[in-house]
Amino acid sequence: MESTTVRCMRHGHREFVLRWDERRTTAADVRRIVEAIEGDVARGVRFTPGAVVRVGWLPLRVVQTPSRAFTLVEPDLSTLPPRWVRGVDTAIAHLRGQVDLAARVGLADLLTHPSPEQTARVCSHAGGQGLVLDRRAPVGVDSGWFVGCGCEPGDDARLTTLHQLVAQFPWIVDALALPEGCTVACTEAGDALVWRDGEPLGGRAGVSIATRLARAPRPPLARCVGE
Ligand SMILES: [Zn+2]
Repeated sequence: MESTTVRCMRHGHREFVLRWDERRTTAADVRRIVEAIEGDVARGVRFTPGAVVRVGWLPLRVVQTPSRAFTLVEPDLSTLPPRWVRGVDTAIAHLRGQVDLAARVGLADLLTHPSPEQTARVCSHAGGQGLVLDRRAPVGVDSGWFVGCGCEPGDDARLTTLHQLVAQFPWIVDALALPEGCTVACTEAGDALVWRDGEPLGGRAGVSIATRLARAPRPPLARCVGE
């Protein structure tokens, strides 16, 4: 499916044609992105190829289509460096997963999106089926996240990026926008339990929306960013 902006031309700006998959994404969610772009253009923002448009935690990029409209490509974080794919489905799926988990534990107003390039600390034996994530205040390039096996952050923790962590453990995506002070025990099956400042807030049982929706295979872009 394609959704098109209609209010950019009147500000002397090219329109955007966003591609999305109706099996993974709802028109209403794409509509929000369309309206956000139209709002930015109305406020005087001028997009150029290569510009970043954030949707949730993911940086999407503006590219020009063969018909000289603009569109958005999104990063596939399962590869390093990311593969760029035309569409907005993964960004919407991640955002939905993050909002869903935060809303279930009463933290929807405190979403604190990191970016995939930010760093996290990870313990040397994190792996397997379950992880415990702790977030302190993000500072600069530090997302604040520690990803461990249930241990305390120790000297053996290594520094990595959230992109690399999500490539390895895609099911943690839903937790990553929870604010500082949160502890999350989560499993590959999509179960998540959340505490804040040591107080249990509840959680979610079942499949991670973000990972379930983001895994549908899509063909890669023939060409990439900044063309
Ligand atoms: Zn550990």
